[in-house]
Amino acid sequence: MCNLPGCKNKTAFKRREHLKRHQNTKHGLGPEMTCDFCVKKFNRRDNWRQHLRLHTEPNRRMARTNFHIGAVLRYNEEKEKIKPRRQPLKGNS
Ligand SMILES: [Zn+2]
Ligand SMILES: [Zn+2]
Repeated sequence: MCNLPGCKNKTAFKRREHLKRHQNTKHGLGPEMTCDFCVKKFNRRDNWRQHLRLHTEPNRRMARTNFHIGAVLRYNEEKEKIKPRRQPLKGNS
């Protein structure tokens, strides 16, 4: 069963994959988040997202994370996913 703090799920998962999937979907955990632009790996989606942001900033001082135009696109996609859907204010009228 899931033993993460604060988790209300007391299901005894029969298979490890089921637990993993639960932790992945419910807690954002999982070793699957790999940066597409360097070799770093993240077990939390928000950590990965923060790191991805570093790839989107071209002129940082002491940057240890290289800028990638692809990361900008990827990061924008992610932002679309996490922000609540809203009607755009600007119409094309
Ligand atoms: Zn859980
Ligand atoms: Zn990276």
